[in-house]
Amino acid sequence: MSLGEYRRRRRFGVTPEPEPGRRPPVGEERRRFVIQKHDATHIHYDLRLELEGVLRSWACPKCLATPHYRKKLAVQVEDHPLDYIDFEGVIPEGEYGAGKVEIWDRGTYRTSRDPAAALEKGVLTVSLEGEKVRGEFTLVHMKGKGRNWLVLLNKPDELDPDLAREGTAAPMPARVVPMQAYQAPAPFDSGEHLFQIKFDGIRALSYLDGGGSLSIRTRNQKEQAFRYPELANFGKMFLAREMVADGEIVALDERGISRFQLLQARMNLTGAREIKQAAATTPIRYYLFDLLYLNGRDLTGLPLARRLQILERIFIPHKYLRRTESIAGEGEAFFRAARELGLEGIMAKRRTAPYRQRRSRDWLKIKAVQEQEFVIGGFTEPRGSRTHFGALLLGYYDGGRLVYAGHVGSGFSEEALARLHALMLPLETAGKPFAAPPAANERTHWIRPELVAQVKFSEWTQEGVLRQPVFLSLRQDKRARDVVREEKSIAV
Ligand code: MN
Repeated sequence: MSLGEYRRRRRFGVTPEPEPGRRPPVGEERRRFVIQKHDATHIHYDLRLELEGVLRSWACPKCLATPHYRKKLAVQVEDHPLDYIDFEGVIPEGEYGAGKVEIWDRGTYRTSRDPAAALEKGVLTVSLEGEKVRGEFTLVHMKGKGRNWLVLLNKPDELDPDLAREGTAAPMPARVVPMQAYQAPAPFDSGEHLFQIKFDGIRALSYLDGGGSLSIRTRNQKEQAFRYPELANFGKMFLAREMVADGEIVALDERGISRFQLLQARMNLTGAREIKQAAATTPIRYYLFDLLYLNGRDLTGLPLARRLQILERIFIPHKYLRRTESIAGEGEAFFRAARELGLEGIMAKRRTAPYRQRRSRDWLKIKAVQEQEFVIGGFTEPRGSRTHFGALLLGYYDGGRLVYAGHVGSGFSEEALARLHALMLPLETAGKPFAAPPAANERTHWIRPELVAQVKFSEWTQEGVLRQPVFLSLRQDKRARDVVREEKSIAV
C-alpha cells in the first residue's frame, strides 16, 4: 500500500488534513473504520477501512446502507493515512476535496477471511460495529467499471441487533394518537426536562412499513405524503425497516424560522403539477422529534430520552428531513434565545416520560407569543399610503371599566381594513369609552365598545400595554362585556 497518491493531491500546511506519519498500525485483529460525511461539491459519505497500515477508502454518494436501499455505489479513492480516521475540519476553498468533513460514524469491523486478498479479488464482506451502523456488508468491485464498487447490505433485519431488544414486541400500529402538551405560564430551568423548539407548522406522524411505503398523517388522520414530494425518499433515509415517528412539517422564512403563513401555500394543493411547482418555490422541512415504533418494537413505553437516542441512531440527515435538537436543563436561556429569534416558543418535555396518546403534563408548551381577545374602543386616522384607518385602540374590562391595552397597527389585509372600517363607522361616538383614554399622535375616532378583535403579542409591558401586537381576526362569537385580561395559566 502506498500513500503516494494521497500525498500528491494535497498541500500540507494549507489543508488541515493529516500528513502521513510513521505511526505503527493498530493491531490487525481490531481493525477500525470511519464514515466521514464530506460536504464537498456534493455531500457524500467516505467509508474508510483500516487495513495494512492505511485507510482503504470509498466515496459513497448515498449513506452507506439503509434497509430500504440495500445497494449503494461506492467509488474507490486513494488510500488515506491512519491519522485520517480522527479527521474533522474544513478543507479550504481551492484545495482538493474543499468543504467540511465530519465523522458520521466510527467503530470496528471484522472480516471472515484475509481482507487484503479479498479486496484484491474484488469481494470483501465486513461486519461493521459502529455507533450508528451495525451489520454485515459486502463490497463488490464492478468489473470493467474502473473504481466503481457496490456496497450491499446483507441482512437488513440484523442491521442493529441492540435495537431489536428495545421496547416491547408488537405489530406496527395503524394509527397513533399524537401526544399533546399543556401550556406552562413561564419558562423554567429543570434537569428533568429536555427543551425543544416549538414549531409553527403542521403536526404530522409518519408511518413507514416493511415494504418501504410511507404514510404521513395529521392529527385528524388526513394523508399528507402526496403533498410533499420532498419526502419521496423518506424510507431510504433511516437505518430502519418499519417505524412510526412524530414530528412537524414546516415552511421556513428567509431567516430559517418556521411560519405557518408560508406553509398555507402548500397545505391545500391537490394537483400533482401545482404541488411540484410549490415544492420548488416553498420547500418544506419535516422535523422529527420522537420515535414511537421501530422494527417490530413498540417504543412508546420507553423514556423520552431513550427514544431520542434511538431516533438519532437510525436517522440520516437530509435536506428536507431534520431531527429536532433537544437542550437539557437550561429552559430559561433557551426561551430567551427563542424569543429573540422570533420563534413561537419552546417545548419542555419530561425526559423520563413515556409517549402517552393524549394530552399530558409531561409535555409543556411555553409560548413566546400570547394571544387573546380585546375590545375595540376606537381607531386612528390613516397615515401615508394607508387606507381606512391607522390603528385600532384596544381595551379589556376590569370591574365594569374599559382599561386601555394599547393599539394595534399591523396584521391587516387591505380587505380587513375596509371591512373593519365599515363596521366601525356606524359605532362612532363623541364619548370616550376608556376609563383613562390614551393620548394618540393621530386623530382618534372613538366608537361604542362592541367589536372584539383577536390579537397576538409578545408580552405585557410594565405599564400594562401590549408589546408587538398583531391583529389576527374579528371575533363575532365573543361579547365585548366578557373580555378581560387573561393571565397566562396552565390550561386544564
Ligand atoms: Mn470525500
